[in-house]
Amino acid sequence: MRVLRRGDGGPAVTEVRSTLLALGLLPSVTGMTEPGLFDQAMEHAVRAFQQQRGLITDGLVGPATYRALRDATHQLGGRPLAFMVSAPITGDDVLTLQERLLELGYDAGRPNGVFGAQTESALRNFQRDYGLTVDGICGPETVRALRQLSPRARGGRPVLLREQERVRKAGPRLRGKRIVIDPGHGGADTGLSVGGVNESDLMWDLASRLEGRMVATGMEALLSRGREQCPPDEARAAFANEAGADLFLSLHTDSNASPRAQGVASFHFGSGNGTTSTLGEAMAGLIQRELAMRTGLRDCGTHPKTWDILRLTRCPAVRIEIGYLTNVDDRARLSDPAFRDVVAEGILVAVKRLYLLGENDQPTGSFTFADVLAHELLAKAE
Ligand SMILES: [Zn+2]
Repeated sequence: MRVLRRGDGGPAVTEVRSTLLALGLLPSVTGMTEPGLFDQAMEHAVRAFQQQRGLITDGLVGPATYRALRDATHQLGGRPLAFMVSAPITGDDVLTLQERLLELGYDAGRPNGVFGAQTESALRNFQRDYGLTVDGICGPETVRALRQLSPRARGGRPVLLREQERVRKAGPRLRGKRIVIDPGHGGADTGLSVGGVNESDLMWDLASRLEGRMVATGMEALLSRGREQCPPDEARAAFANEAGADLFLSLHTDSNASPRAQGVASFHFGSGNGTTSTLGEAMAGLIQRELAMRTGLRDCGTHPKTWDILRLTRCPAVRIEIGYLTNVDDRARLSDPAFRDVVAEGILVAVKRLYLLGENDQPTGSFTFADVLAHELLAKAE
């Protein structure tokens, strides 16, 4: 599709405008001279929508924003929902269904607005328990039942608590954990390329350093791609899901039109309307703290995003943007192999901390690779 921006006109603009109206983000058309024009008010509305949804707030309607707008128009009961293997149904109605099932105690997986196999199995269990036709389809009968039932417990998010419980049960050891490391870009797609330095090469090298350390501490580290490959984000997420990964770490660098922009930032799954992966958020926070402390990169914080790579992975997932290649200082740091070792060590320690879950044994920045190894050997001897 064509990217829509301020000044554009036509039927596609009219359609987006009517969606924004229906969502209450635009005042009514009364008095509007040209309903088919992408004007300033419409750009404001697009930005507000993007902010709500954790999308890049650029005021442009590209594929991601368009998809999110389309998703937002669906309300539970408006259409039948079922698991379509080849083209999963997405939308706010699916999100409502998942949240409702979770409130009722059915494990529909992370509420992400995508009707997948786990949503179907939770729906079938619900239908069986409540004497409905067990067809895995959310039609009028099921919607009525969902509306009539009051949740057993309000306020909790069982799936996220369950996610946390799984990590707690897994214990503080790293041995046996399966981590998928996702070096950004690859092959013909070099990512950012500034001053002879390629993002894809840097991230491949960093992933290899991290992989080596993880394997040494008994973790199973898998790379999401081969050196010369650049699979799309959906394929990277599907790889992690099929591997049954415990954690997914995506590695990138950032860029900006301003050469002054610099620093490190971490992103986890979450939308502006309260849905978040608690473990993803915890992992992002731990990584961010270690990296800001150890590397001297400016701390640009952690942020919830609905990017595909975070949305489609079932395990806690974090995307780290390590430095700006467009910044001279950050680029010089990243070009130094010793610096990349420091980054790898920081990430490893953050992962270890996640499994220690707050047993604050050593202050941020002081835990070393040797400490982690010693800890693992001790645990093995017990
Ligand atoms: Zn990148």
